[in-house]
Amino acid sequence: MAVLGIESTAHTASVGVVSDAAEILGLASDMYRPTKGGIHPREAANHHVEQLPGLVERAMEAAHLRPAEVEAIAFSQGPGLGPCLRAGATVARMLSLAWDRPLVPVNHCVAHVEIARILSGLDDPLLLYASGGNTQVIAYARGRYRVLGETLDIGIGNFLDKLWIELGGTFPGGPAIEAEAKNGRQLLPLPYSVHGMDVAFSGILTAALALDARGAARADLAYSVEVTTYAMLTEITERALAHRRRDTVVLGGGVACNERLRTMVRTMVEARGGTMFAPPRSLCVDNGAMIAWTGQLALRAGVTVPVEASAIEPRQRTDQVLAPWRSA
Ligand code: AMP
Ligand code: MG
Repeated sequence: MAVLGIESTAHTASVGVVSDAAEILGLASDMYRPTKGGIHPREAANHHVEQLPGLVERAMEAAHLRPAEVEAIAFSQGPGLGPCLRAGATVARMLSLAWDRPLVPVNHCVAHVEIARILSGLDDPLLLYASGGNTQVIAYARGRYRVLGETLDIGIGNFLDKLWIELGGTFPGGPAIEAEAKNGRQLLPLPYSVHGMDVAFSGILTAALALDARGAARADLAYSVEVTTYAMLTEITERALAHRRRDTVVLGGGVACNERLRTMVRTMVEARGGTMFAPPRSLCVDNGAMIAWTGQLALRAGVTVPVEASAIEPRQRTDQVLAPWRSA
């Protein structure tokens, strides 16, 4: 039977319907786009409240299912922006009560791993999760997903968005910087900020803005920012592979749509004799299908939560939740 999944951690409101054989039966998404500056949590949440009922309808129509044919309702419990998470959780609780179906809490980062794992067919890959708010290298070990390395300050996507907005552009910055970087020729000096298994971006933001103030060409700046930060991510991913004795990597998050990042990670993994897989863009970015699929796995492992105990967890860590379907 199908599980309906609701995603609402940040910009994207999305509803997916996925079968127990991992077939994506329906997927409907809508992204909040700030007209000016970065994401405003309350405005994004208002967007989600407005959009989610229609998205549920569209996803169910695409799936050609009636509520009686849906086995459970899964929702992103965290991590994410409180007001945004609350909007998704409220719709999930409402459906759970109206349709009399169990509620399944899903960790958003774990969902990125699980959708990439099922799509790739890779059994035990590392995930490089590079999104707006999150930047982590994740691997499964002893009952849960563990964070092997991560950003010490802001997410890589937020870094790209902040930089682009400071330079006079609009959200989202990542794709715009990617387009500019294609014409870059000169590698400008920027801090290379790897600290053991972790990375940091705020110093690079300051340095990039200083280069801009000194008249650096926009294309060279974009190119240098991409090469420097994606090399940092590739380095910690390689070190994680070596430490964990793995040879497969999957990508997730909006920044994983970036061609240069995909190529750099693929080159590194293949040089080690391994395999890299990046989901199609619609499933790399935040989406309800990954929540529904992880909901399927969790449901089969007996993970459900009563409505009254289904509070959102804006700061929920990847390694805080169990993944009993992995050890089962
Ligand atoms: P997410 O947080 O996973 O929804 O992804 C959103 C983030 O991905 C934003 O920070 C975007 O700037 C970034 N992003 C989207 N497409 C690209 C791209 N092609 N290159 C780099 N960053 C991107
Ligand atoms: Mg995400």
